[in-house]
Amino acid sequence: MDKDDFIVVTGAGGFIGGHLVGSLVRQGHRRIRAVDKKPMSSWYQLHPEVDSLQRDLTDRAACDQVARGAAVVYNLAADMGGMGFIESHKADCMLSVLINTHMLMAARQHQVRDYFFASSACVYAADKQTDADVVALRESDAYPALPEDGYGWEKLFSERMCRHFREDFALRTRTARYHNVYGPWGTYDGGREKAPAAICRKVIEAKLSGRHEIEIWGDGEQTRSFMYIDDCIEGTQLIMHGANTEPVNLGSDQLVSINQLADIAEAIAGIKLHRRYRLDAPKGVRGRNSDNTMIKALYDDWAPSIRLEDGLERTYRWIYDQIIAGRQAQLAAGD
Ligand code: NAD
Repeated sequence: MDKDDFIVVTGAGGFIGGHLVGSLVRQGHRRIRAVDKKPMSSWYQLHPEVDSLQRDLTDRAACDQVARGAAVVYNLAADMGGMGFIESHKADCMLSVLINTHMLMAARQHQVRDYFFASSACVYAADKQTDADVVALRESDAYPALPEDGYGWEKLFSERMCRHFREDFALRTRTARYHNVYGPWGTYDGGREKAPAAICRKVIEAKLSGRHEIEIWGDGEQTRSFMYIDDCIEGTQLIMHGANTEPVNLGSDQLVSINQLADIAEAIAGIKLHRRYRLDAPKGVRGRNSDNTMIKALYDDWAPSIRLEDGLERTYRWIYDQIIAGRQAQLAAGD
């Protein structure tokens, strides 16, 4: 990708988008437009070198405005969160279809060359994820379609939109199916947080309060794989630069249970907590892992390389610092 390419990143005020913009800036890209619906004071990362805009990209006119002149679009904007959010906000999640549809239309109109869509492991058929000791999901397992209701259907539909814009209108689209990305500068409270950040936060709160217990959603034996943000950013750009245009898994294949994830967070904190299991809480599928055969075959044996123990430690430290800073700010404000 040319350093002079004009690159648009949507969802840039969010977790992955903020890291992607940072990575592009560090690589020397100078013409970057970062877009998000949130007010800029709520963006996780703001990069002064780039043109940052607050726009709601469900609106077609806003998409036209941000895509004008762009050679490359990374579409990461979506109304999303962890299980607690997507199971109770299915309509909101499906409305993200407006973002990708309008961004594709704008990209076509303004002759964007390369277009990236952030899809999800939630596209995979639920009946292939019923066992904690799950067989890792291959790309072909998305069909026959039975994705996560709401969020997963939107992702699967938008993947197809990308495919047909590529086939019918020659827009070069790439699609990655992200599997649980975690790391610093992301959501760790408020209801949209995902398991790694939620567990770090709960362990930190237990440590700071001295109440040595933790609530776990489900029985804790459900399994997942978690990819550290640096691997996600590297893999995203690899996929964007490569020739493959079919959806490809981008995720770790280090399968762990939620109980094992909590074990790691406790070890980082140096404490042991009593676990209260909330069996009625949202928990998603029983088991999910990424089969990385395709990504390895396409990109010279590439796969995520950061161990969960290492990535979670960095995430824990960042959330810890945020919580302490928040408490100090409250104290200073006299709350
Ligand atoms: P995030 O919620 O931190 O970032 C998404 C951003 O999109 C938010 O800042 C939000 O304000 C913005 N947005 C929402 N609606 C918008 C709109 N109408 N117009 C403009 N901006 C809008 O989430 P993330 O973890 O950074 O996820 C980025 C992308 O990756 C999303 O498409 C998500 O579905 C996908 N994904 C993420 C994960 C993960 O584990 N984080 C897993 C699978 C897929």
